[in-house]
Amino acid sequence: VLSASQDFDFFYFVQQWPGSYCDTKRSCCYPTTGKPASDFGIHGLWPNYNDGSYPSNCRSSSSFNASAISDLIGKMRSDWPTLACPSNDGTKFWSHEWLKHGTCSESVLDEHSYFEAALNLKKKMGLLQILQNAGIQPDGGFYSLDSINEAISNATGYTPGIACNVDASGNSQLYQIYLCVDKSGSKFIKCSWPGSYCDTSSECCYPTTGKPASSFGI
Ligand code: 5GP
Ligand code: 5GP
Ligand code: 5GP
Repeated sequence: VLSASQDFDFFYFVQQWPGSYCDTKRSCCYPTTGKPASDFGIHGLWPNYNDGSYPSNCRSSSSFNASAISDLIGKMRSDWPTLACPSNDGTKFWSHEWLKHGTCSESVLDEHSYFEAALNLKKKMGLLQILQNAGIQPDGGFYSLDSINEAISNATGYTPGIACNVDASGNSQLYQIYLCVDKSGSKFIKCSWPGSYCDTSSECCYPTTGKPASSFGI
């Protein structure tokens, strides 16, 4: 049973650039099911409160039921791949996201609906295509933060949160893109970005010079 205090106000929908995750972690591994496409992958769909805080691990005795999403498995592998080591099929990542975040929005989305909602949001947004249409490509070139912000804002109608990290040469690069989503998990909504997603200097996006390889340099 969910108590009122475990409810939430909206979601963050977070996508990650795989190469940049690899830089943060110093090491990363392809999933056992195959090398992911050169595309953003889903990191998570995270229930949040309007005050900036968020609930987590909302059930002591919930478990992730892989068979409940067996019909989504192909999309999960392509759109929500894990880059963590040791290599695995993604079940560990999905299970972690469900237990930490998904269990906190169970008043609205059951497990199947939760993962399906995230897959639908990724498709609806088409982030890689939005950037490509604006001439922004993962070609090792540098793009201004403003140009990325503008491309996404113009295409979706909503201002994204943009988090960066630093590549092996110390250059700032695009790591994660956040959009806010309504409580039903189906519609992007307006929200403000207090910078909490970007509260350590390594995650903030700075204009830089230099040239990182196969990533979105900023
Ligand atoms: P990091 O410290 O890498 O930014 O975040 C670690 C983890 O904390 C994230 O993967 C996510 O699970 C959680 N987290 C960080 N910021 C937020 C937030 O604003 N909302 C929610 N729901 N989770 C967050
Ligand atoms: P969150 O950041 O949502 O708390 O947790 C992310 C967790 O999932 C971390 O423990 C991380 O090691 C694991 N994980 C597995 N694969 C991935 C991946 O591809 N990206 C990210 N960000 N975390 C992953
Ligand atoms: P996880 O393995 O749970 O994704 O990450 C463990 C911790 O590593 C996170 O809670 C976060 O503090 C840190 N971490 C993960 N990714 C990043 C990143 O891009 N930048 C920074 N500064 N810390 C990160």
